[in-house]
Amino acid sequence: MSSLFVQPRVDSISSFYSFPQTIDVLRLDLLHPVVSGNKWFKLKEYIKAAKAEAKTTLLTFGGAYSNHIVATAAATHFIGLKSIGIIRGEEPKMPSHTLLAAKNYGMQLYFVSREEYRNKSVPRQVFAEHDAESIYTLPEGGYGALGVQGASDILYQNETNFYTHILCAVGTGTTLAGLIKASLPQQKVIGVPVLKNAFSLQQEIQNLLTQEKQDAFELLWDYHFGGYAKYTADLLNFMNEFYGQTNIPTDLVYTGKAFFAAFNLLKKACFPPGSRLLLIHTGGLQGNASLKKGTLIFD
Ligand SMILES: *Cc1c(COP(=O)(O)O)cnc(C)c1O
Repeated sequence: MSSLFVQPRVDSISSFYSFPQTIDVLRLDLLHPVVSGNKWFKLKEYIKAAKAEAKTTLLTFGGAYSNHIVATAAATHFIGLKSIGIIRGEEPKMPSHTLLAAKNYGMQLYFVSREEYRNKSVPRQVFAEHDAESIYTLPEGGYGALGVQGASDILYQNETNFYTHILCAVGTGTTLAGLIKASLPQQKVIGVPVLKNAFSLQQEIQNLLTQEKQDAFELLWDYHFGGYAKYTADLLNFMNEFYGQTNIPTDLVYTGKAFFAAFNLLKKACFPPGSRLLLIHTGGLQGNASLKKGTLIFD
């Protein structure tokens, strides 16, 4: 499986700017065209566990635009496992890009009401059509100990001990928890939640961490740009400027917001001179698919 993926690369971008800090980007977006970014790291330990239990089908949960759904569909397809997606809300007349891609990878989709989704109940129809014994259930967004374990490997792909600050976009916080787990005591891990008022995240991330790591991270609450998948002209301008400087594409749901936050802090001189920043590019470029062509100078 790992042969499907390329070794993640670190791009140094400091020379494109005049900040007195080192700025590097860990390019997880280049890992794989579909199972891009952090999603593979979050999935891999669950897949191992499913195989160890001789399960043949992975079942998971997500919305119509969930990167986790596509990544699960693609990863299981490549590995030769079946997949089931429990999707929040009614089946749309025009399936999203995400759901079409998941279907193309053979994922069987079941649509449930928002209420049913909240309870994470699996529709009865699933068990009428599949042997319950064959199914391994993966939590939404890969949230859980195995997701954290997989995500902690992100920092072990390259030499990362040298960095003073590690910054990453946050959805469920599973990836951030993995980074915190793998970080050294002198490193600061900074998360940028992309959901509005997601204050329960602090606790949800702490629940994934050991006692001594409980306070080893910081969340920046002011960079959600109105909420999940919401954006402003400022954000899109930043993404275009960032691409113009560095040649690195970002997405409007996650990495655009995280990198905007990083540069906002750099401009406000929040990092001591000489700090060495590692920005995690978690992938997710398909998040730009909803934009009108030409809005971004890349795609
Ligand atoms: C899913 C996703 C995240 C958030 O990961 P969590 O582990 O849920 O916090 C960040 N960036 C991208 C590109 C993603 O697709």
